[in-house]
Formats: sequence, C-alpha cells, structure tokens
Amino acid sequence: MDKSSDCLYFQRNELQKNLMIEICDLYTSTLFLFKEQSYPGRCVVAYKGHVKELFELSEPDRNAFMKDVCLAAEAVQKAFSPAKINYGAYSDKLPHLHFHIVPKQEEGLDFGGTFEMNPQQIYLTESEQAETVKKIVSALSYKKQTKPSK
Ligand SMILES: [Zn+2]
Repeated sequence: MDKSSDCLYFQRNELQKNLMIEICDLYTSTLFLFKEQSYPGRCVVAYKGHVKELFELSEPDRNAFMKDVCLAAEAVQKAFSPAKINYGAYSDKLPHLHFHIVPKQEEGLDFGGTFEMNPQQIYLTESEQAETVKKIVSALSYKKQTKPSK
C-alpha cells in the first residue's frame, strides 16, 4: 500500500507550502516551521519516508527519528523559552509520520489544555519568518555530516 503519490510531505505541494516552510534536514527527517504561529516557535518534524505509524520503523530508524524530534524540541526550547513543549502526532487524514512541536507559554494560548491544530490567528511577515527560522537554526545542535576533506 503506497499512497505517497498524494502525500503532502512527499509531494511538497501547494497545500504543504501554505502550511509550513522548510527549515532544514535533520538525520532522518525534515524540520519545518509551521506558518501559523499562535504558539511562537511551533515546528513540524516530518519523517523522510512515507510511513504511517511510529511502530513501523526499525529500532535504529525510530531512535534516529526520535533524536530529530528531541533536537527540534531542544532548539525551540532554547530559542523561545516556553514553559512546556507539547508533542502531537495525529495525522488521521494525512498518514505520514510527523510530530508537531508546539511550545506553550504560560500566558499563551491553551496553556494547560490541548493545542489547536490550526488556530488561523497569527501569521508572521516574511522577515519575521526568516528571523524565526534563523533563531531555531542557530539553537539547533544538529551538525551536518560533512564529507571527509580528502
Ligand atoms: Zn508521505
């Protein structure tokens, strides 16, 4: 069963571009900034392969993916100092493994409750978006594997 042809993460289609912008690749996933920023610093970590459930991954792949989730969450913590980060993996209608990384501020939206999937309230300007991406990237402890120089 392969429905990757109509998968938004696989296709990187318009719908996906409306929802999020690519920040960078991690070990086994791609990190996106969620364009709706009611929860400042909100990101998505999408697994590279078209997989539906976390349990479908081999143990090394799962560990690598969870490492990416941790790297992203840690960067968001450093960059935005939320009181708590919420993690969400739902995708009922979009069966491609991804985690929502949702930083919650005590005085912010839905603190103490469940985050809204898309509040459609706060969108950044392009320069604010670029600034946010920069903040996350510089807080990221992920180091790109560099090829040996010789
Ligand atoms: Zn997919």
